[in-house]
Amino acid sequence: MRALVLDAQGARVRSDLPEPEARADHVRVKVSVVGVCATDLALARGYMGFRGVPGHEFVGEALSGPLAGQRVVGEINAGCGRCARCNAGDPRHCATRSVLGILNHSGAFAEYLALPQANLLAVPHDMPDEVAVFAEPMAAALQITEQLQVRDQHALVAGDGRLGLLCAHALHAAGARVQVAGRHAEHADLLPPGVPLHTGWLESAGPPPRALDAFDLAVEATGNPEVLARLSPLVRPGGDLVLKTTAERAVSLDLAPIVVREQRLVGSRCGRFAPALELLGGGTIPAERMVQGRYSLDRAPEALECAARPGVLKALVFVAETANRNIDVAQGMS
Ligand SMILES: [Zn+2]
Ligand SMILES: [Zn+2]
Repeated sequence: MRALVLDAQGARVRSDLPEPEARADHVRVKVSVVGVCATDLALARGYMGFRGVPGHEFVGEALSGPLAGQRVVGEINAGCGRCARCNAGDPRHCATRSVLGILNHSGAFAEYLALPQANLLAVPHDMPDEVAVFAEPMAAALQITEQLQVRDQHALVAGDGRLGLLCAHALHAAGARVQVAGRHAEHADLLPPGVPLHTGWLESAGPPPRALDAFDLAVEATGNPEVLARLSPLVRPGGDLVLKTTAERAVSLDLAPIVVREQRLVGSRCGRFAPALELLGGGTIPAERMVQGRYSLDRAPEALECAARPGVLKALVFVAETANRNIDVAQGMS
């Protein structure tokens, strides 16, 4: 099959790869659309020593099982199926899990992938592929609302990239009073109505731009974990600091202020897809407006380059035609 491969020679498309083997409890999926994620860009730079087929944000068609013939999205952690965490229905922290396109599991920039049947969810009939492909990042954003009781708190989201914008939507939908600190004034109209976007907060090394203790919680979604030190003074004592960035490099931070202020650090990674599809189906998430590059699989390396440009929110790779696609894939962004 054809697939995008990351190896010692960089990112390239090969057509000589074997189709992924499907274990007994796995279903093969014919991939239609894949989103380029910041994680893919990190893997391409060598993060985790990755070699193989990346890609974990996809829409495709299930080829077997109860969802055969239907459009599906899929949760990306594949557990062993035997340990206590897997038996409790949550393979996300299975010690021997594989992760689609990230860890020991051939990914979605390919004609076919395989995932456990239990990971797959049917895409609602009226949801375009270009919206459904946001299920994985939307779920990651919503994970904050699984971990914290979010009601009407004052929340600050640091970062106005794709993940930051989705975190703002997730918190807003849960009732929080959200503000965003970012770098791209032009992203303001991708936020929920009434949610302000502040620029210049994160760059300056000076005193905090807002009153101390202004927020009950802050989410670090900038890609730069050093920003955490800027966020702590803005959050009230006892408040929450949520870390969404998986940093490629270690940083050194003075954690004493967090101890003194008795703030909670919450690491936050993958979420559940069902609530993500529900929120995406509500029509309030400007998913399609975040798509700025569309490429065929043969041009997947260009999609990675597009996604790496500052301010680009989402580049998509179209692997196969599906019935529910309402866009013209002929050209990429530039
Ligand atoms: Zn991702
Ligand atoms: Zn397990």
